Amino acid sequence: MKFDRKTLFIVAGWAFGIAALIAAVQFALTQAAERLIKSSAEHTAVRYAHNISAQLPELPRLFAEQSLGRETLADLKRLRSLGDVFRFKLFDPRGALLMVSDDLDLADPLANARASGQRLGSHHSANEKVAEIVLGGANFIDLQDGAGKPGRPPLYTEAYVPLIVEGAVLGVIEVYVDSTPQATRIRAAFAEVALIVAGALLLVGGALGVQWMQRRRDRQRAETRVRYLAKHDVLSGALNRASFNEALEQAAWRHEQGGPDFAVMCIDLDRFKEVNDAHGHAGGDAVLREATHRLQSLVRHGDLLARLGGDEFAILQSDVAHSDDLHSLGQRIVDALAAPYTVGGQRVVCGSSVGAARFGVDAKNVEDLLHKADVAMYRAKSSGRGRFSFYDHELDRQLEERRELARELREALVTGAMAMHYQALYAADGQTLLGYEALMRWKHATRGMVPPSTFIPLAEDTGQIEALGQWALERSCAEAVAWPMPLTVSVNLSAAQFRGEHDLVDVVSRALDKSGLPADRLVLEITESLLMSDTEAVVNTLTRLSALGVSIAMDDFGTGYSSLAYLWRFPFDKVKIDRAFTQGLGDDKKVALIVRSIVSLAHSLGIRVNAEGVETEPQAHMLRKMGCDELQGFLLGRPVPANTLMHDGIAHRQPDVPKPSATDFAALETRPMAL
Ligand code: C2E
Ligand code: MG
Ligand code: MG
Repeated sequence: MKFDRKTLFIVAGWAFGIAALIAAVQFALTQAAERLIKSSAEHTAVRYAHNISAQLPELPRLFAEQSLGRETLADLKRLRSLGDVFRFKLFDPRGALLMVSDDLDLADPLANARASGQRLGSHHSANEKVAEIVLGGANFIDLQDGAGKPGRPPLYTEAYVPLIVEGAVLGVIEVYVDSTPQATRIRAAFAEVALIVAGALLLVGGALGVQWMQRRRDRQRAETRVRYLAKHDVLSGALNRASFNEALEQAAWRHEQGGPDFAVMCIDLDRFKEVNDAHGHAGGDAVLREATHRLQSLVRHGDLLARLGGDEFAILQSDVAHSDDLHSLGQRIVDALAAPYTVGGQRVVCGSSVGAARFGVDAKNVEDLLHKADVAMYRAKSSGRGRFSFYDHELDRQLEERRELARELREALVTGAMAMHYQALYAADGQTLLGYEALMRWKHATRGMVPPSTFIPLAEDTGQIEALGQWALERSCAEAVAWPMPLTVSVNLSAAQFRGEHDLVDVVSRALDKSGLPADRLVLEITESLLMSDTEAVVNTLTRLSALGVSIAMDDFGTGYSSLAYLWRFPFDKVKIDRAFTQGLGDDKKVALIVRSIVSLAHSLGIRVNAEGVETEPQAHMLRKMGCDELQGFLLGRPVPANTLMHDGIAHRQPDVPKPSATDFAALETRPMAL
């Protein structure tokens, strides 16, 4: 057990207190023992005096005539040592010494005493002394040490007792009582008591002391834990944001006083959300702990590691002499975090993007330093993830612009700056209007029309896509309900809407209910990237959407990694061949071959085919010949606001390609692909 100075001081004080208490008890017991010894001696002396008075009828004569008869002498000799009494002296009523028992064997036992002139008390007060003794019964009891005094026991008591016969005071007898045996007994008994009391005190005091120390230790532990929690992140044990900022401020202060250079690294785990989605929060936590452990093993003594939140870490690297130092640590971090993790027995890969900024070089204050390290991390992330990057001014400017745009986008929905434009979808003949694709537009006050390729990813990154997507759906349905039958409206959905806070099926059915648009006039367009992650949940949502009666189209078909594979996962109503194919048709014969194969495959699965980006008549002609069911592109119409739509070429609904039922679809899965 470790003690701090304060605890040692208190323990020493405690021990001293107990020792003092024991000493006090010991002292009190000694005093009590002395009193007991004296009182026992007094008792003996009084009894002795009483015996003498009773057994010596001649005694009044001895005092009166100051002479000793033979018989009295013999009696006195007999009585001079009786029991514990070993000596006595007689004083007359005036306090003068009459006789000492030691002189009984002399020829004149009274001569010595007379010659000595000894008196009780001082010469003048002898009478008063006698009177005092008479009044007190027995008095002046004195415990004496016999060591070195011949004829004396080791411990004896002198007691003065009045001799009173038939009411008359004869004088005073000083009785010498051997207190040695009594004292030995009493002291032994009291020593035992003292030992027991001291033991009990030690035991109680010790127990109380131990209890106090335990309580103090528990309190100290709790305080230490509270202090630790206030500074650290509970999950990882790394510093938390507040204490990291504090450390940065201190480093900045030291730097200003001529202290060492330092830098901050921001580390963000790549695709951590996917780990959380696939392995639950416990799995995510395990990865975070392991990542912390790896980072901790990389930093030098004196460097600080913090978890700023989520999958975001930061390192304060002190004493950075050269940017090579930073680069080397950054690269080692990227390598260490790229190693696979094991979560619930499964191998999980989750790399990291790392950015660094130097104090005094990239930033002049702590807040800016953190911001710039974050910008550098973002640069690493946007240039392909799994890499290290230094702070870059140009990127910072772009990011700032992006943040500004995100702020403006948030306002755009409220201020009515968003609009839906509609691009016509025609049947293969290019004459029959089937419906429109709804495309979102942002009429920015100063920047003009901001293209969806800019603001849709921004909305996805900043969590605004749910609100925007919901608005687009409701707006498109509300405008489409006014179109002539059987024109359809195709609305694009973002992958983020499938993972959003609100159930997408509720959002869609609410848009239908609010507008009164029949479900079979709504087409939802999704891109295949949606199916790349969490396929099961997405397919489940698609199935529920399909059950509402809406159609599902796969947009930008052919641009993903494994477009064909996704066709088997869900019975899409339509695929939209990406405009890159349409526009590549004239240049390369292989493109035509691919498009033809897609059409053939889709038709065999009962899926309609739309060709996007038709800009020329030859493209339209070729696509028609290849069997595409729908054409869309600038040749046939550009996206325009709803109030300018003419609905030219409207016809009755085109006969659909016969679509297999769900069971047929399952059976189709085993059919070889006709490519
Ligand atoms: P998309 O769904 O594939 O939409 C077709 C895009 O191709 C539109 O671009 C359209 O203007 C453009 N386009 C149509 N015909 C031609 C053509 O002949 N030549 C060329 N070069 N382009 C043509 P836009 O409107 O800029 O939209 C871009 C993408 O933004 C859309 O691609 C869609 O993925 C997304 N988007 C647009 N509106 C929304 C929306 O409301 N929600 C979501 N989630 N995404 C949207
Ligand atoms: Mg689309
Ligand atoms: Mg498209």
